[in-house]
This record gives sequence, structure tokens and C-alpha cells, in this order.
Amino acid sequence: MIHSCPSCSLGEVWFEEDGPDVYLNLNRVATDEDLERDHYLEYEGQIIEIVKIQVAFCPYCGEKLTSGKEVVVPQFQHHNFGGRK
Ligand SMILES: [Zn+2]
Repeated sequence: MIHSCPSCSLGEVWFEEDGPDVYLNLNRVATDEDLERDHYLEYEGQIIEIVKIQVAFCPYCGEKLTSGKEVVVPQFQHHNFGGRK
């Protein structure tokens, strides 16, 4: 893990390094309620959605995560694994 943050200790937020780029990954996991509403979901704790954003700093504690890289491309990827859109 390239950065371990107190705010990220729940395991639903993590950082990923891809060459010179650093990505923040956020995921949303299924709760009891989600399971009742969405029958495509199979179990509690299943990942429903992931958002992946390129960052230069940790947005929670401000630590710099990239080394000498000035350009961060403002883009994100969104993956939805649930049946409810
Ligand atoms: Zn942090």
C-alpha cells in the first residue's frame, strides 16, 4: 500500500499506484437494505460501485503521494456492479 491513512482504515478507500500515477479508489459495499432493494446483489459487503480518481495528494490528510509529478488528469472511472442503476 503506497499510503495508509487513518481516514481510510475502513478498507473502503484505498490508493493504487500505476507507474507515475496515483489513483484513489472508493467503493460502496452492499448493506442489508441494499440486499432487500436490489435482488442482483448476493451478500452483505459485496462491492456495488467503485469510483477511481487520479490524485496527486491524499484528499483526507493532505500528504503528497506523487513524486515530482505536476500533471494530474482530471478524470474518473465508475464501475457499477449492482442491478439498480
Ligand atoms: Zn491520507
